[in-house]
Amino acid sequence: MSAGEFALIDWIRRRAGAGAGAVIEGIGDDCAVIRNRRGTDWLVTTDMLMDGRHFRLDRDGPTAVGYKSLAVSLSDIAAMGGRPLAAFAAVALPKLHAESIGRGLIEGMLPLAEAYRVTLAGGDTNAWDGPLVVSVTVMGSARPHGPILRSGAQAGDAIVVTGPLGGSLAGRHLHPCPRVEEALAILALVPVHAMIDISDGLSSDLGHILDASGVGATIDADAVPIHEDARSESRRDGRPALDHALNDGEDFELCLAVSPADATRLTAGPVAGRTLHVLGRIEAEPGLRLREGDRVTLLPARGFDHFRGA
Ligand code: ADP
Ligand code: MG
Repeated sequence: MSAGEFALIDWIRRRAGAGAGAVIEGIGDDCAVIRNRRGTDWLVTTDMLMDGRHFRLDRDGPTAVGYKSLAVSLSDIAAMGGRPLAAFAAVALPKLHAESIGRGLIEGMLPLAEAYRVTLAGGDTNAWDGPLVVSVTVMGSARPHGPILRSGAQAGDAIVVTGPLGGSLAGRHLHPCPRVEEALAILALVPVHAMIDISDGLSSDLGHILDASGVGATIDADAVPIHEDARSESRRDGRPALDHALNDGEDFELCLAVSPADATRLTAGPVAGRTLHVLGRIEAEPGLRLREGDRVTLLPARGFDHFRGA
């Protein structure tokens, strides 16, 4: 990434280092990985959601916001092949209605926490004259099959996603289903070389795997699973549904690299109740390409960058 949010994160990573001592993976993956002397790997991830950017409190209500702010962090634990254990919620509440918004947030988080057997174990509560900001930190464990990093993709690998993509802004973005059980089921079946969750859009997030692994890839346009929401958004705004699927983001499906033989195993039948899709191949030549018929073009990362906006 040459500019914007990812350039700043790169700079921070160079300044702070990408891990030392017990921190075997610092800045740069979906979670940090902390290894204790007994060989247990702990995962930690934190995400901040802001009114007007990731949700609209007046339209969505605090319960949906609470749900989403926990779900996005659970998704980062899933992306490492981990099991989430504990959550911490830090909130900056608008002074007006602070109490009811605060309760609403927690009412949105707790059923999700219970469903994923995660304990809300702490946080911080503040009120101010600004808009609602919620930051959730989740801790998890990575053993026995994880952690799966972004950096292990190999030329020849198949690229697999856990579900159809695009059009999440039609509403799905508020209630993502973190693919924790799906990741664990996949890992019990085959070795996974690299994995990420699709938060910014397939073109951006697959791009992170390619950058971290020092490889490239070609996506097959015909093989991209397109969500029904992408088709309805396309009818609304005239942008091709494929464009929505490649770039919208907030799908919170997983994107992974596995050997072609293992991809065949994963797509032979449902895994944890879901149909997986092979949509392309990792290649030695850097860059992300799109094949449409016999035309191959460079695919720019056009997913979400917080400095640029959409
Ligand atoms: P994700 O979309 O999976 O949440 P991000 O793109 O937000 O990942 O972040 C990429 C990496 O950069 C992560 O390892 C994250 O912890 C790290 N990161 C982002 N912002 C900062 C920051 N301000 N200081 C330190 N690390 C950061
Ligand atoms: Mg992520």
